[in-house]
This record gives sequence, structure tokens and C-alpha cells, in this order.
Amino acid sequence: MDEKRDEPNLSYRNGISQIQLYGEFTTKASRKFRYAASLTERDLTVQKITSAPAGRSKVVFNLRDCVGCRAFKADDNTDVGAYFSAYFYPFKKRWMSSGVARQRTEQCFRVASGLDPHLNLEEAQRWARAISESSAHQRPQRNGVVYSEVRRPCKVLLLLNPHSGKGQALSLFTGHVQRMLHEASIPHTLVVTERQNHARELVREADLTKWDALVIMSGDGLLFEVVNGLMEREDWEEAIQTPLGILPGGSGNALAASIHHYAGSQPVSSEELLVSCGFLLCKGLVARLDLTSVCLGSAPQPQRLFSFLSLAWGFVADVDIESEKYRHVGAARFTVGTLVRLASLRVYQGKLAYLPAETAAAASTSTDTPPCPASSSTTSEVPSAHTHPHPTSSSPHGFCSSLVCRSSRASPGQNVTHTFHNYCNSNNAFKAKRGQDKPPLAPALGPRGGPPDSLLVPLDQPVPSDWTVVPEEDFVLVLAMYQSHLSEDLQAAPDSTLEDGLIHLFYIKAGISRATLLRLFLAMEKGAHVDASCPHLVYAKVRALRLEPYSAKGTITVDGELVDYGPVQAQVHGSLARLIAS
Ligand code: ADP
Ligand code: MG
Repeated sequence: MDEKRDEPNLSYRNGISQIQLYGEFTTKASRKFRYAASLTERDLTVQKITSAPAGRSKVVFNLRDCVGCRAFKADDNTDVGAYFSAYFYPFKKRWMSSGVARQRTEQCFRVASGLDPHLNLEEAQRWARAISESSAHQRPQRNGVVYSEVRRPCKVLLLLNPHSGKGQALSLFTGHVQRMLHEASIPHTLVVTERQNHARELVREADLTKWDALVIMSGDGLLFEVVNGLMEREDWEEAIQTPLGILPGGSGNALAASIHHYAGSQPVSSEELLVSCGFLLCKGLVARLDLTSVCLGSAPQPQRLFSFLSLAWGFVADVDIESEKYRHVGAARFTVGTLVRLASLRVYQGKLAYLPAETAAAASTSTDTPPCPASSSTTSEVPSAHTHPHPTSSSPHGFCSSLVCRSSRASPGQNVTHTFHNYCNSNNAFKAKRGQDKPPLAPALGPRGGPPDSLLVPLDQPVPSDWTVVPEEDFVLVLAMYQSHLSEDLQAAPDSTLEDGLIHLFYIKAGISRATLLRLFLAMEKGAHVDASCPHLVYAKVRALRLEPYSAKGTITVDGELVDYGPVQAQVHGSLARLIAS
């Protein structure tokens, strides 16, 4: 710190917030000007010190926007000074366009109170600690959502699909995320997946006690693998408590867009969405996440999957899969796919039934519904998801280091497991696999555990009498959503929240014109389709549903992933998982 000047009164400022630290520093860039820095529990105020008081410019940084602060020695041995840098991601107006997005700002100060470099470093560390701690305590207030904090220091296992999106997830990681994690002092191990289901197998076998969070950098498909890998474990009940994080690196980044939306932020896409989700990850607030159990009745063996986002049949499912060939355009592939499918609009026949949320609530005390054997036979002794306590801090989790096959030091605090040797081969395999002929996702092992589906009866029995059976049998689409966004720019279920315990069921009846359907999709950008009073669109909040397509062949997607085609039923399990979001 440069020579002290008249310190302000270290008691109350504006009668609100107490000044915890005050100091005067130069910056890393220039020692010509000095700045007065004062830290309260809410913000860091920086003011240039000039002889003319009128010329003093004051900048206030809200600690809610701060991901961390680090102290370090000078690179130059002859410099006795030490430094601390605080990293902020405030919303700023975009360059050359409307709207705001989180943008990085670094504030770096030089501490040179005396000639002893150790004392200077200690002072810089004192500031870095104080700023980091105050930032960690600045959490958003959201009505009705209970957040806990991820354990700190937080050890993260980061799983990245190098082929997701336009195939740039790794460069997006090194270009944006790596630096943010370093700024927030979050040690992480990066595993680049080698093939489909690699992440699923990895988390199925992992020693989770070594990790505080499992973070996915990809589209929704990789998180689908991770959720199902966790639910396939003997210890699923504890495993699924591991906080999950999502960083959008894919083309279908619906959950990432949803958590950005839940944070109350204006819509953004691509790299701005990545920065926003990276920021939320660094803040480390954990919310509860609903999961829906999806039972597929198709031969030869009924399967049960866990889904965090959506179940789709008809138009949306077809676009999901057909748009694979437009992957090179990134998230815009869904827009292109939608236009193409509109041109060849078709009708899908089947039977749809659901349990309305109000009916389920009224009947929740009744126990006369026999549970579905496909799911309950192996889970009869496990308690329901609703019995989970809401933890106030993360439970210990870990990961077996033997699973990290090749590891090289990339930057402090980061292990990298690259598997570039077969990058090209797997890339080709990927294209083939993700094309039109992609085989349905066949899990090596269906989830053994999971809570029983108390609202479902076996698929070969009629639905319970309190269910609503839809009279129509000709549909353009059936879409069940449990998060707000279907893709980065489609707000299919604007009312949905992370843990509302609801399936937001939409169906569009046959007979809708192409023009009206297009208008609905355009309105969906703002979630306005729900209020469009379209007689062909039906929206119901439900707890369970059953869909029985009549055709022998077709497409059903779960979280955007292709699953075995045939009769399917699903039930939501409120707050089963945990997600880093705010
Ligand atoms: P996108 O949104 O771009 O489609 P996803 O995360 O949904 O990205 O991933 C697409 C598919 O790739 C998913 O089915 C996922 O299981 C699969 N996958 C994950 N890792 C790999 C890999 N290394 N090679 C090929 N496919 C992979
Ligand atoms: Mg929901």
C-alpha cells in the first residue's frame, strides 16, 4: 500500500454498510495514479485520488457480481510490491446491440506499504480473502427457492463432450471457463469424453466422496448420461445428491438457458450464455432439481430412465433428431429443423392420458394405486424422494482417481484427461452415430434404484380412474417439459421452475395450419404461445402421463436423446437431484 492518507471513518457509510477495509494503491498497469479502495460487505468502491475533488471518479463494484479475488507476487524480482485482483462479471450493455450480458472486469491493485515483499504479500492476501469471503456471502434472493452452498473449497469433476455443438466445447472451455474457475479458486479435473455413454459409465463407477460437484460442459445429452449413471448406482439415493452443474457447450443447451432464465437475467445465447452459467457455477449456490422417471414399455425389456428436461413425441422429437445434420450451425439447428419439418407437417396417432396436478394433490393421501412393477420391484424398500431432507451443506462425494487414465498438468489446480489419440476416429463414429440411423440409446444397465413410481400402474393395465384420457387421437406434437426452456431460444414452459414438482404437458391437436404452428413457435421465443388462445394447443400441469403411439415406428426423445420407441409413461419426482444454479 502506498503511503496512507486521511482514512474515512471506518464505521457506517450511508448508514447501511460498514467499511471493512480501506487502502490506497496503485494499479498493475500504472503507478502514476493512486486509488482509494474501500470494502464493505456489499461492494468494493474504487476512487481515483486527484488533487481536484471534482475530478474524482468513483466506481462501485457489487460483490454479488464477483467470482473471487486472488493475491500474487510480482513477476519481476526487483518489484517489492504484491498484487491482488478481484474478478467481476457485472451485466453491461452489449457492444453494438441492445440488451445486457455479463461481461468480465478485473480490478488489479499493487500493494507497496513498505519495502518488505512478504508484508506486502500478506496485505494483498488479507484483501483477497476479505473480498472473496464477502462475495461468497452475497447471494441472490429468490422467492420460494431454498439454496444451499456447495462445499468450499469446491472440488469439481468436469466432464466435457468434445463433439457437442459445433465441436468447439474444448476451445470454449479453455477460452472462457478455465480462467473463471481459476479466478474463483475452484480446483477441477477435466475429463474429455471419448464416446457416447463414457460419462455415464464413469459416474456409475466413480468414488463420489472425492468430488463436491459434477459439472457437464456439453449440451443436455451429456447431463442425461450423468443423471442416469448416478441413478444406476446401488447408492443412487446419496449419489444423486451430488451437486450437478451445467455449462453450455452443445447445440441443445436447454437446461443452461433455463437456469439463466430462473436467475432473472435477460435472454442471451452462445458464449454469453456460457459466461452466465460459468458465473453461476463459480457462485456455487445449489438448488433442488425435479427428475421425472420415464418407463419405456417396449420389448424385450421394460426400461426406466431419469429425465431432467423433457419428453417429446411428434413434431419436436422429429426436429430433435432430424436436425442432427445441421449441427454445424450450432443452436440454430433447431430453427432450421423446425422450418424443414413445417414443410412436411404430419399427424401422429396415439393415446394420451395424464394425472392432473390438482387431482394428484387431492388424492395424495390415498394409497390404493398399485405402483408400476417395472420400477417398484427393485425399489420397494427405498423411501420416496419426498422424504429427502433439504441439506444445508453438500454431502461428501468423491471420485476414484484410477478412472483418470491419462493425466497431465495444464494449469495450477487443474488436471486434464485428454484422449486425443482417437479424437478423429471417435469424431467420425460420432457423426455416424448421431445421424438419422443413430440406434436408440440402450443403457447397458437400467437404473436399479430410484424412488417407486407410486402414481403409475403397469402399461398393460388401463390408467387409474382419476386420470384424464385425452379424447383426440391425432396429434402434431406431445411435449412434456419440466424446465422453462426447450432450447436456448424456445421458452416452451415459461411457468416451470427447477423444483415445482410438475410436468408441464403440451399437446397440439391435428388440424392446425402450418402458419399457426409457425406463429406458435415464434411466440415461444418469449413464452407467449401459452397465452395465444390457440384452440389446437392444450396445456396442462400434471404429475404423471402415459403415451401409447399407434404406429410401430417413430421417434420419442427424452432430454433431446433418442429412446426406444413404443408406449411410455412418466412420473415426476420432486427435488430428487441438486443443481448449481441461482
Ligand atoms: P449437443 O447439444 O450438441 O447435441 P449433447 O451433450 O447433447 O450435445 O451430446 C450429444 C450426444 O453425444 C449425446 O447423445 C451424448 O451422449 C453423446 N456423447 C457424449 N460424449 C461423446 C463423445 N465423446 N463422442 C460421441 N458422442 C458423445
Ligand atoms: Mg419444473
